[in-house]
Amino acid sequence: MKFEFEEAPASYTSGSQRARIMTERWVAQWMFCPNCGNPQLGQLPNNAPVADFFCPSCSDQYEVKSQKKAFGAKVADGAYYTKRDRLNSATNPNLVLLNYDLAASSIRNVCVVPKHFFVPDIIEKRKPLAATARRAGWVGSNILLSLVPSSGRIFVVRDGVALEKNTVLDNWRRTLFLRETALEARGWLLEVMKCVELIGRREFGLDDVYAFEGRLSTLYPDNRNVKPKIRQQLQVLRDSGYIDFIGRGQYRLRSAM
Ligand SMILES: [Zn+2]
Repeated sequence: MKFEFEEAPASYTSGSQRARIMTERWVAQWMFCPNCGNPQLGQLPNNAPVADFFCPSCSDQYEVKSQKKAFGAKVADGAYYTKRDRLNSATNPNLVLLNYDLAASSIRNVCVVPKHFFVPDIIEKRKPLAATARRAGWVGSNILLSLVPSSGRIFVVRDGVALEKNTVLDNWRRTLFLRETALEARGWLLEVMKCVELIGRREFGLDDVYAFEGRLSTLYPDNRNVKPKIRQQLQVLRDSGYIDFIGRGQYRLRSAM
């Protein structure tokens, strides 16, 4: 994997246009499919409604966002309603966050958020464009990256260093069970995964997760049985091979944090 990108043709004059061309070329040339390991992704025609790339082997789609500065709590995305409607469909894309250094013409970070981490809460509706705008009334979206647990940020390149392909594929497979989980049930599961991450230890007890009862009650005010719900989610995580039950109310994350 090479990190420098090729120069865009001089006909592209604006900096952002050049950066887009160069980063897309980089993805087309170097990016493998983190879902199935296929060595290359295919490029979709420009103006495809949501995605930019697809995998010819497993058909997963990818949307690429690239920028100079590190990604923060949210990233602007396309039409809100299209995005929401796509959440349940097979063509909902995985999100590639690509961070580059334009001066050095090189890639710094490539992080993929698998599509199974996208729940309705993560898509924020933006204000409709003003009546004076060219696309008056159009409603865009933000993706709230701050709501994605760290297990949902699969790095391919981190601080200019490529991760082993097998590590990337392992990290991806670890949460694939979420795809089998209905969208409505995924919210709770993701929240409990976040609590487990916040504990910050590979081994933890049921009480450590119960400590987040207040946080979860705030998120789900209608649920009056938060503790049983926590136990139920831990059971799903255990059945999915994400954590192991090691007895006496103790659990262990299957992979290192
Ligand atoms: Zn694939």
